Amino acid sequence: MTEITDFQRKISTLLPDFSLSFNEPLKDHTSFHIGGPAEVMVTPRSVQELCRVLEVSAVLDTKPYILGAGTNILMPDEGLKGLTVCLKDGLTALSLLDETHIAVGAGVTMTKAAVFAANHGLSGMEFAHGIPGTVGGGVYMNAGAYGGEIQDICHCVDVVDLGGTLRTFTKEEMAFSYRHSRLEEEGGIVVGAVFALTKKPVEEIKARMQELLAKRKASQPLDKPSAGSAFKRPIGGYAAALIDGAGLRGYQVGGAAVSEKHAGFVVNLKDATAADVRKVLQEVSDIVFEKTGIRLEPEVRIW
Ligand SMILES: Cc1cc2nc3c(=O)[nH]c(=O)nc-3n(C[C@H](O)[C@H](O)[C@H](O)COP(=O)(O)OP(=O)(O)OC[C@H]3O[C@@H](n4cnc5c(N)ncnc54)[C@H](O)[C@@H]3O)c2cc1C
Repeated sequence: MTEITDFQRKISTLLPDFSLSFNEPLKDHTSFHIGGPAEVMVTPRSVQELCRVLEVSAVLDTKPYILGAGTNILMPDEGLKGLTVCLKDGLTALSLLDETHIAVGAGVTMTKAAVFAANHGLSGMEFAHGIPGTVGGGVYMNAGAYGGEIQDICHCVDVVDLGGTLRTFTKEEMAFSYRHSRLEEEGGIVVGAVFALTKKPVEEIKARMQELLAKRKASQPLDKPSAGSAFKRPIGGYAAALIDGAGLRGYQVGGAAVSEKHAGFVVNLKDATAADVRKVLQEVSDIVFEKTGIRLEPEVRIW
């Protein structure tokens, strides 16, 4: 049996009413199925619980890692020391505010929120149906697909800072840009968002959602663990086309490889380590740069 660490002992004393997981395998919390153990993981079930957790992490002088559904993160093989706060499956409220606005908790998946909107005859989230992350993760990085982005529907976002203060940012204050929001520089934890949608017949919305899902299934390697698009779209081009053009489809290091189906994805073929994925990302970026002069930047967050 692994011995309990000093940090684990201290945090269980300070959070006696919380269900804490020790040495939780991060590979079970990421779509890459990669990552060593999290020393301590907690899933707060309310904003109050989250604030309590933040208070305790301040007392212990540790900055928590914030995890959604883990669909855009490459976790380290050695795992994460300290505290990992998992928001997926916590903060799951979902409600209709008025004719055209919905309030969504950060731990709700984008797909669930899109289906909720559709069932209420509200259009605008069709693009998000099929993005496997949470609303919190989607807002944090302004997720988007098929011509839609979070910033198109965002009315406002509730954010808790590391000191436990809750603030509401308008869409303009969120400073969204391509796969980016102010939170990337400033930190802060999304606890919920209000989306502004438009009325449309339910059948029309659902037909569009099915159409986009079919496109995803046809073009993406959804049968293999990945973190979606491995690289950001470079100015004036597409990462997948550049990678393909450089002859790198199928390029493999250890258990990780550029997908044969979609050259913009790096997949875990079998037992890939984070080191394998990092090497594929670096080598692909270098080779594409040599051949085209364009430097690809990872979209996947490398921890
Ligand atoms: C098969 C597949 C297809 C994908 N398709 C798309 C796509 O079409 N478009 C697209 O944009 N993305 C896509 N992605 C990537 C991913 O789903 C999105 O980036 C998603 O928004 C990430 O959400 P998450 O909850 O998984 O975040 P995580 O991966 O858990 O976290 C990502 C980052 O967000 C931060 N974060 C998470 N939750 C919060 C929060 N509540 N508050 C503050 N910070 C937070 C984390 O600290 C981390 O830095 C795809 C991924 C996969 C595996």
